[in-house]
Amino acid sequence: MARNITPKETDYSQWYLDIIKVAELADYAPVRGCMVIRPTGYSLWESIQKHFDDAFKETGHVNAYFPVLIPNSFLEKEAEHVEGFSPECAVVTHAGGELLEEPLVVRPTSETVIGHMYSKWIQSWRDLPILINQWANVMRWEKRPRLFLRTSEFLWQEGHTAHATEEEAMEETLKMLEVYRRIMTEILAIPVIVGEKTAGERFPGAVNTYTCEAMMSDKKALQAGTSHFLGQNFSRAFDIQFQNQKGEQEYAWTTSWGVSTRLIGALIMTHSDNDGLILPPRVAPVQVAILPISTNDSVMEEQLLPRALEFSDKLDQMLGGRFTFVDKQFHMRPGDRFFYHLQKGVPLRLELGEKDLAAGTVRAVRRDTGSKEDIPFENVPLRVKALLEDIHKNLYTRALDFRIANTFSASTLEELKVIVEEKGGFVETYFAGTPEEEKKIREETGATPRCMPLNDTCTGTCFLTGKPHARKTIFAKAY
Ligand code: AMP
Repeated sequence: MARNITPKETDYSQWYLDIIKVAELADYAPVRGCMVIRPTGYSLWESIQKHFDDAFKETGHVNAYFPVLIPNSFLEKEAEHVEGFSPECAVVTHAGGELLEEPLVVRPTSETVIGHMYSKWIQSWRDLPILINQWANVMRWEKRPRLFLRTSEFLWQEGHTAHATEEEAMEETLKMLEVYRRIMTEILAIPVIVGEKTAGERFPGAVNTYTCEAMMSDKKALQAGTSHFLGQNFSRAFDIQFQNQKGEQEYAWTTSWGVSTRLIGALIMTHSDNDGLILPPRVAPVQVAILPISTNDSVMEEQLLPRALEFSDKLDQMLGGRFTFVDKQFHMRPGDRFFYHLQKGVPLRLELGEKDLAAGTVRAVRRDTGSKEDIPFENVPLRVKALLEDIHKNLYTRALDFRIANTFSASTLEELKVIVEEKGGFVETYFAGTPEEEKKIREETGATPRCMPLNDTCTGTCFLTGKPHARKTIFAKAY
């Protein structure tokens, strides 16, 4: 079996691509920037989807579907939106063998078409709030694509809500940010900093953008998900008006929020090692691989396989779904079978050979630490449960410790530059600059403001402009 993964210390980008290849997550499509998500990658996406979808429904949202094509004139209705998105838009000019009267944009995001529909659906305060989510593909013509992290077509969910008051829309924006934070930390085991984006990093057309920022294992930042408070910008552009309780006409307050297949890239770059993918148990489509091992066919058929299937049933019952996999790849050498699951990131492997059978134990091997232990048959469900919980905790803590160890502070531009160049990581500072000044910092250091953390309201003197009462801001090189 091929074990050819470039070590991350040698070439991080190649390591990342090698992991995707050996774990069979995705492949390049014929069109540059697009990707094929292979079955293993897609089952991981389905697992991620399920956790988010359940949480959206628990918070009162419903799913709907809007068209992939948007009239070009819709984008032009919101000035900042069109300016931000037009360089990335793919546009359909011909269809049915004819030149179209109006070009159609392949949706880069759906605020405009959904805004158009909301203006029809909303008349009175009684029609609010509207809490809709859509699972869809979108297209943004990326100049420097990277599998999962930045592709020209990607899969995502986009929530679009409309409310009667500013307070309610702001509450929704922050509620969904918290849903994102919770799933990223509690399910994906990815520690994130939640914060507000600076003006230069805001979503085009938003009043405020909030984000979950994660540190990858090369110390670069990744924006893992965003929640936007759109104020009345889109409702003015699309005429989403309603009659309030006093009988007056008002513009609705809207929000939008999204996470994408980029989260698969985040999982890879947070947890994996030089042997392959490592998946946190709660999101892993296969949490436990069970491997009966023997060259003796009758022992296999009569004893090992039945035992393995019995464990599989019991564990699936305990885990509440089909989360185990009984490995019947008997044509392969045991070492290659071990490696197969290891590269695919399966959190726990249970090996059952003739010696184990005689001893009444199975051998459990953890993917995160490689540690092994023999579990007596009767203890398997309980012990596996405890091990899976411990693997989640270990992966989360490992990533959090790494982020803490690679977070520094700077009080001058020169200091920021030196840290970014020599150490990498997150740099905390106080910042009150303009988008032009953000650009200048980027040109000089390669770093961008990732966010102003919400849980840190300390203010200080801006490291660039010397202005007082500047907010704590994290800078880093980012994907
Ligand atoms: P946005 O609507 O621009 O805030 O995007 C929502 C989320 O989608 C972002 O926070 C990213 O995590 C993700 N995203 C944006 N662009 C891409 C892309 N080209 N490929 C994959 N994910 C993306």
